[in-house]
Amino acid sequence: MKTDLLADRHIGIQEEDLPVMLEKIGVKSLDELINKTIPSKIRLKEPLPLAAPMTEREFAEHITELASQNKIYTSYIGMGWYDSITPAVIQRNVFENPVWYTSYTPYQTEVSQGRLEALMNFQTVISDLTAMPLANCSLLDESTAAAEAATMMYGLRTRDQQKSGANVLFVDEEIFPQNLAVIQTRALPQGMKIQVGNYKELVFTPEIFACILQYPNASGSVEDYREFVEKAHAAHCKVAVDADIMSLALLVPPGEWGADIVFGSTQRLGIPLFYGGPSAAYFATRDEYKRNMPGRIIGWSKDKYGKLAYRMALQTREQHIKREKATSNICTAQALLATMAGFYAVYHGQEGIKNIAKRIHSITTWLNKALTRLGYVQHNELFFDTLRFSLPDHVSAQKLRTIALSKEVNLRYYDNGDVGFSIDETTDLKDVNLLLSIFSIAAEETVQEVTDIPEASSLNRELRRRTSFLTHEVFNKYHTETEMMRYIKRLERKDISLAHSMISLGSCTMKLNAASEMLPLSNLGWMAIHPLAPEDQTKGYQTLINNLSEQLKVITGFAGVTLQPNSGAAGEYTGLRIIRAYLESIGQGHRNKILIPASAHGTNPASAIQCGYTTVTCACDDKGNVDVEDLRAKAEANKDDLAALMITYPSTHGIFEPEIAEICKIIHKCGAQVYMDGANMNAQVGLTNPGTIGADVCHLNLHKTFASPHGGGGPGVGPVCVAEHLVPFLPGHQVWGNSANQVSSAPYGSAGILPITYGYICMMGAEGLTNATKTAILSANYLAACFKDTYGIVYTGATGFVGHEMILDCRYLHDETGISENDIAKRLMDYGYHAPTLSFPVHGTLMIEPTESESLWELDNFVTVMQTIWQEIQEVKNGSADKEDNVLVNAPHPEYEVVANEWNHSYSREKAAYPIESVRDNKFWINVARVDNTLGDRKLLPTRYGKFE
Ligand SMILES: *Cc1c(COP(=O)(O)O)cnc(C)c1O
Repeated sequence: MKTDLLADRHIGIQEEDLPVMLEKIGVKSLDELINKTIPSKIRLKEPLPLAAPMTEREFAEHITELASQNKIYTSYIGMGWYDSITPAVIQRNVFENPVWYTSYTPYQTEVSQGRLEALMNFQTVISDLTAMPLANCSLLDESTAAAEAATMMYGLRTRDQQKSGANVLFVDEEIFPQNLAVIQTRALPQGMKIQVGNYKELVFTPEIFACILQYPNASGSVEDYREFVEKAHAAHCKVAVDADIMSLALLVPPGEWGADIVFGSTQRLGIPLFYGGPSAAYFATRDEYKRNMPGRIIGWSKDKYGKLAYRMALQTREQHIKREKATSNICTAQALLATMAGFYAVYHGQEGIKNIAKRIHSITTWLNKALTRLGYVQHNELFFDTLRFSLPDHVSAQKLRTIALSKEVNLRYYDNGDVGFSIDETTDLKDVNLLLSIFSIAAEETVQEVTDIPEASSLNRELRRRTSFLTHEVFNKYHTETEMMRYIKRLERKDISLAHSMISLGSCTMKLNAASEMLPLSNLGWMAIHPLAPEDQTKGYQTLINNLSEQLKVITGFAGVTLQPNSGAAGEYTGLRIIRAYLESIGQGHRNKILIPASAHGTNPASAIQCGYTTVTCACDDKGNVDVEDLRAKAEANKDDLAALMITYPSTHGIFEPEIAEICKIIHKCGAQVYMDGANMNAQVGLTNPGTIGADVCHLNLHKTFASPHGGGGPGVGPVCVAEHLVPFLPGHQVWGNSANQVSSAPYGSAGILPITYGYICMMGAEGLTNATKTAILSANYLAACFKDTYGIVYTGATGFVGHEMILDCRYLHDETGISENDIAKRLMDYGYHAPTLSFPVHGTLMIEPTESESLWELDNFVTVMQTIWQEIQEVKNGSADKEDNVLVNAPHPEYEVVANEWNHSYSREKAAYPIESVRDNKFWINVARVDNTLGDRKLLPTRYGKFE
């Protein structure tokens, strides 16, 4: 009896496609291809010991059952996470919409205008609410944003401070513990010292270069920091402020009292709790620091006909260009969640957000009075949403806790016996009465039910916000659901995603994100859980996390795993931090160099720097492999200082280097560790693994190999798997009583999206996963065989085959015709395709990774398109097309150009827009012509208010 398994739906290639493909490649069987591609020495001998695959229906039942083991209590714990209401129109049309969640980071500007506009909305929200001129379009979480602020301010020290070695970062003691922990992990290897104390008592010394404050602070008190900031600036100290984004609707924003950086979380702008993540952190600063800012920035530019367009600006700060000199290692961020937060602000507008903030504050103000009357002593003179109480003599915290739990309520319990809570958007009259009853029962008092909460404020004049925000038209137009739905749809139509066609981005593994993996995320059992909820309320999450961790250990061949890092790059940093801690523990803490092949992804050197290391680059040979002799020489020359090698496998050139085991041996002999960048794990799963190869640690990109979607640039999850000797150094978290090496706000990072990967592995099973890997390699080799005689493949392995991706040569085409790889990328849009990876890892090339999910029909259509483009290049070469006016240099051809009355090109409209028949069936109409990149960088306009001229 054949059961319907996900593998049959996930894998695009069918049994009957095999003969055609194998013949094209020139092998007799799939196994022959695999044997010739992956060195036998590193092949797994046995199938992965994973459970038998579940059907989609079985998984649906299983994951629903697990979700039901999470108890949905009302959590007033706060501490950076607040329940919020995701407007249904956003949940359904963005969060649950594959066009939004399967699109890629908007590098290809002309087919990304929708999400670029959505992210521009987000930046505008941040800029308005914080009153800072410049915001980026998200960071991983609040705590890493704090760490980024520390690093940025360290880099901004004055020359005198650098000369004198000023290295003390002051952090106010009233900061959330997770922020302090993550700052600590980051700061120490970078050479910063942290001084924690009460900001009111701080005596500025020349050693202090910057301060970090929280607003309102960790206990909920709204402090007036104006005087402090003046003093700090007089002492040449920068000030970064972690601000609650919702509170800024009512409070004077830090930008109005002199902050240099404002950062925080936007979770409460309509993003579910998700047991701590994902949600988007924000980061805003002054215009003069734009080149020092971490993360991605969306700006304006114009297309070649002068139409306004959005684009990612100032990429010259980023790791993929600047490598070890980058401002941060951020690659994947939290685009989807930032998009949602931006839409939340669009939907509510200024009045809506103000009303939400006022309701939160009025309830808090009312409860403050009511509980004070019951004998509780409240600490915060000024507050927004958070109260902290000392208890009357006859009330114990334990008593309160017991009563609260009996009513399915979580309060915040302080170490010193104080009890508190944070009110949020979801708190209603029924909740207020319940809270009141908990505190009155504990105090053995009777109180009357309240039937209405009057609008009230506890804020004084000095701290009350007077300036307006969200005044731009976009925040005032879409307040009905019909308008909102259409606005979302309008943006959606401007973007290419996997819902339209194959996205063959090499190294990014844009595979299917199956609906059966995505559906569980909308279950309240996953959405509505606070990360600091007591353990007996989170059994479902615990089981999910344990099961998934075990699966990932099996797949990587390692002994331990952390799910804390929120991206691949965060995983790299975490892995290196683990190595650092290990080396320190064996008296090798002086080792400070990381060896990195020249072909490595930009995040590798950038992560090494964030971890306080310096980098040594080793060469690649002319076959694209790591030059083993150069590696040996560099390793030995730096033998005493070498901490680790970072290596991607199969290589970023898509090749399984046979020398990999030898390379690991060389590094180990020097007393260093091998870090494997696991971005290419899609070529390994079930066939080989980092443990077998001899590495010590690797990160995985769940948003590449393990079916989690890219979200237009995040969320991601970058678990780190380690060998036995590194297990003791895996990240802790302050809720576990040990925050060593903590790298994220939440104990399990972006736990809310783990059901996707868990579902992928449960439903694929060992055989399905292994077949997926084989098919990914098959499809790549099929494409390589199709393109070898036209474009040519830059690198193949020793036996002439590629791994799961290949690099197409475009350099000679450019030499012959002036047509660049970028022209090819833009021309692909006219055919309805997103470009492959451009100019990485080799300049002047395109890197194609088809993944296992594409059908033979789609592969063939892509081949036809690419070969037609190759013909178009030949037309330029042989003179039948104009060198200056041809379909390639003019690409893409936007709709408005094609339908205009005027048409002055030397070729037809049909050739421009419908070059081959299959395009007619699935035409993607492009919204803007080619966008001017230099204009947008010359004049950075990071908000919706931006206007050229
Ligand atoms: C994608 C990628 C990374 C970075 O991963 P993020 O999740 O984007 O941070 C690192 N190395 C390689 C080879 C990659 O392809």
